[in-house]
Amino acid sequence: MHTSHSHGEASTRDMYLAARSKGLTIIGFSEHSPRPETHSYPTDYQEKLREGIPAYVREVSALARSAEESGVEVLLGIEADYIPMREDFTVSFLRNYPFAYVIGGLHFQGEWGFDRSADDWMPLSGTERAKIYVRYYEDMIRMCKSRLFDIVAHPDLVKIFSIADFRDWIAEESSFSLVRDALIAMRDNGLLMEVSSAGLRKPCKEIYPGPRIMSLAAELGLSISFASDAHCINTPAYAFPELAAYAASFGYRESAVPRNRELRFFPFSSPGKP
Ligand SMILES: [Zn+2]
Ligand SMILES: [Zn+2]
Repeated sequence: MHTSHSHGEASTRDMYLAARSKGLTIIGFSEHSPRPETHSYPTDYQEKLREGIPAYVREVSALARSAEESGVEVLLGIEADYIPMREDFTVSFLRNYPFAYVIGGLHFQGEWGFDRSADDWMPLSGTERAKIYVRYYEDMIRMCKSRLFDIVAHPDLVKIFSIADFRDWIAEESSFSLVRDALIAMRDNGLLMEVSSAGLRKPCKEIYPGPRIMSLAAELGLSISFASDAHCINTPAYAFPELAAYAASFGYRESAVPRNRELRFFPFSSPGKP
């Protein structure tokens, strides 16, 4: 869950209450982390976020203490950008706070935030798009090897504005083998793969990650973690039954929650099945 400390629409407390109303007993906050000043979207929230992070940490920690009394676990997490060659920035940010888990996300190539606008993608040729996909998975391998993260966020976010081209690309053997290397790096460095319903709310209209990546992940024995990437009170646990049915169709029977570098696995059943 994100909050109004970044570009989310609701306070930590309102997001917490929304998650409770969905019946969740483990609730993870994963606000965006600040990025280096060179890496910003044309409209951004970095200044507000930089100032807001101490309050975010305080508020979520207080919610965690009060939730404990009712048997609900609130986790103070963060979604940090992986920016190649700027691991130092992430390391020095992360060391200041006791995050229970860190989600690693790729949203930038160079200083370009590729997930912001379909207009940015319009003039790009198929070859140019393919180069972006390749770079995305090369960066993902570096991200996994950095060992800074517990979960890989939305592992095919790069398809957001070009789902048809992305499907053609991943159907090619060389692309598939690169994606396979990224998933192996994920598994061998102890990361979970996020299965996120956010993609359903975006122009790609598909769960992150898509079916080819899901079946490869299952084949490689990669563990998964469910997420809705909520930015408003309507989206905590968004489409979780659909995520469960989706994961189950690839043979998954449990999802994991990381806390302080330890994993707990929770069995789930797909709707309609025991
Ligand atoms: Zn966001
Ligand atoms: Zn993200």
